[in-house]
Formats: sequence, C-alpha cells, structure tokens
Amino acid sequence: MPGFELFGAEEKKEVQDVLDNGVLMRYGFDGNRNGHHKALELERDLAARMQTEYAQVVSSGTAALTVALASAGIGSGDEVIMPTFTFVASFEAILSVGATPILCDIDDTLTLDPKAVKAAITTKTKAVMPVHMCGSMADLKALKAICNEHNLVLLEDACQAIGGTYDGKPLGSYGDLGCFSFDYVKTVTCGEGGGLITNSKIYAENADKYQDHGHDHIGNDRGAETHPFLGYNYRLSELNAAVGIAQLRKLDQTLTIQEKNYTVLRNALSSIPQISFRRVPETGVESYAFLSIFLPNEDLARKGHKALGEHGVDACFYWFDNNWHYYKKWDHLLEPKSLNRLSQEQKTGLQKNNQSFDSSDAWMGKTISCLIKVGWSEIEVKERASKMIEALQSIL
Ligand SMILES: *Cc1c(COP(=O)(O)O)cnc(C)c1O
Repeated sequence: MPGFELFGAEEKKEVQDVLDNGVLMRYGFDGNRNGHHKALELERDLAARMQTEYAQVVSSGTAALTVALASAGIGSGDEVIMPTFTFVASFEAILSVGATPILCDIDDTLTLDPKAVKAAITTKTKAVMPVHMCGSMADLKALKAICNEHNLVLLEDACQAIGGTYDGKPLGSYGDLGCFSFDYVKTVTCGEGGGLITNSKIYAENADKYQDHGHDHIGNDRGAETHPFLGYNYRLSELNAAVGIAQLRKLDQTLTIQEKNYTVLRNALSSIPQISFRRVPETGVESYAFLSIFLPNEDLARKGHKALGEHGVDACFYWFDNNWHYYKKWDHLLEPKSLNRLSQEQKTGLQKNNQSFDSSDAWMGKTISCLIKVGWSEIEVKERASKMIEALQSIL
C-alpha cells in the first residue's frame, strides 16, 4: 500500500516548482507563484481520476471526513453510524463536528453489515459512514438503498482503498461524499494530506469555504472576502499538494503491482483448505492494498499470526488485538475520556456503544490481514508465498 515506496524524481520536480517561487500557500500571491497552483491542480486531477464533479484537498484524511460531515450539515445532536473496525479517525471526525458516532457490526466483508445498519437507525441518524478497510469495500448498493429510504447521507471513507471500484465507479464516488487520506502510509501519500470528492455542488462549495475559515473565495483580495458561515483551517500546503500530484499520477501503476503481488499470495494460500478469504461484494474490485484471510477460529488466527512473524513474514496484522483499529481497545471513546467537555447529547449517545458486537468479534477474531507492498521483486513475492504457506501449515 505505501506510495512512498515509489518516491522519485517526479515528486522532487513538483516540490521544486513550489520552492522555486516560494509560495507555500494555496491562496493569494498570484504575482509570485509563476503559474503554480498545486492544491488546485491536485483537486482537478483527483476529480478527474475519481470521475466526480468536484474534489477538495485538505490537511489530512481526518480533516477530509470532518469537512465532509460539516459540508453535509451534520452536527450537534446528530448520530452517524460507523463500523467497529476502522481507524480512530472515523469517530474523531464525527465527534469534532459535535455529532455522535454510533458503532455498528461488520460482516465477512470486514465492513458495515447493512442489516446491522438498518437496526441502528434512530430518528437522530443523519449519516452512514462505511469504511472500506484494507483495500476492499462495503456493500454500497445495500447501504445506498437504506440511506435513500431514510434520507441519510452516505459518506464513504475510502482512505485505505483508493483505486478500488464498485459497480464500475471509483470507491468514494458512489456515495454522496467520499474521503481519502494521503498520510505517509497510504497508497497515495503527500506526507500529510487528504481529499474529499462529491458530485454535489452545494457540498463542494461548503467544503471549499469551511476548510479555509469560511472565506467565500470571491475576488482577488483575500482580506476583503466575506464569511458566509463559520469555518476552520484544514488547508493543504502547496508543498504537500506538489508531492500528491506526482503520487496520484502513479496510482494506476501502484494498483497494477499490488494486484499482481496480491494474486500470487492469494493463489498460494488457496491451496490450504482451512483458509478462506474476506468477501468482496458483488461488482466490487479491490485496490489490493491488503490480503485478508480467515482462519477457522480465534485461537488458530492468533497462532497463525504469531507463526507468520516467526517465519519472517512482516506487515501482517491481527486487528482483533490492535489498539487503534478495533472497538475493543477504544476505551477513550467508550468511557469516554475527553480533554474538552463533550455535549450531554454526545455523552448520552455514546453510552449506546457500550455493548458487545458479537458478529464483529466473530469475524475479526479469525482475521489476519497482510499488507501488499509495491517494492517486492518477483522472487521476493514467491518466497513470501512459500513462507506464508509454511507458517500457516505449521499451526493447522
Ligand atoms: C488513515 C485513515 C484515516 C485518517 O487519515 P489521516 O490522513 O491519517 O488523518 C481515516 N480513515 C481510515 C480508514 C484510515 O486508514
């Protein structure tokens, strides 16, 4: 998955353009920037690649989720349904706009279970946020039908699955809004950064203003601009955007290599009858950022994960015990512990999350995910495949 594996002259050239003119900010200073508008260029490239009308780049994936929620008018008193398996950024973004994250079970797609989403809807629900974890996607058709029926916003977190598709559409473009992270370990990286995509003119215009203190971006005197509503600063710097431009151009090459490496490993593991694979919803195409497998049970998954490490197979994750990606270790959310006081509505709403999620536990307990790197040579992938088989057969 990491785009930094493909760092090269292309990134340097884009950054050098910015350093040569010294304008590190995306707005203003038009006389000095020698025609370079890197953030704007990245937005145009992102919208074109993702086949959406609009794109907004911001300072992180978490910021993209935050700006997306605010742009859709989600805030105090609203509930947003999110999965038990994701990165903490999901609930951080929801809390930061004043809304309440409501945890919901996942299924064998390792993403939101549509049946569980249906059951979690209340009169306060305003949005459903599927997270396309580890390179594959949620059952978006079912989720969209639920959202349409209940008039909810469908916000796709595609931070870990950039380049995957569903029903022929790039992940992130199927829902009302989609978000990407360009942090250092993502498929497309610019150090720190993120982007949101949408076909809604209203959401796009809201996002444009909200991520820059509410500036209306009309005219060419920044100080004279008006502020139609409150905003914050989630801007992306020109330096980061420059790296992102070069990285995004490499996305299709990255996806091709990921698919090739993934396929070698998957074909090899298919020879072990006790191992099965995460379900990819019909019409979905993975980004192949990870290969996720199911062992027969939790005990064997723990042993399998340990054996992989002992056989020198790095970058495999047993998420069930992970501090950052699974609800069981989110005590700071569940208690909750917050430096700034949460609203009473948030505190009351968050109590709903203090329950066990049996279906999630059943699936995550037996899941191991292995990162697919782009820098491996053909020989390294083959060696890795045999080591994985050896490791897993040793515990089965
Ligand atoms: C990385 C990630 C984010 C947050 O992105 P940052 O750029 O690190 O803020 C959000 N959701 C998921 C699923 C992620 O993996």
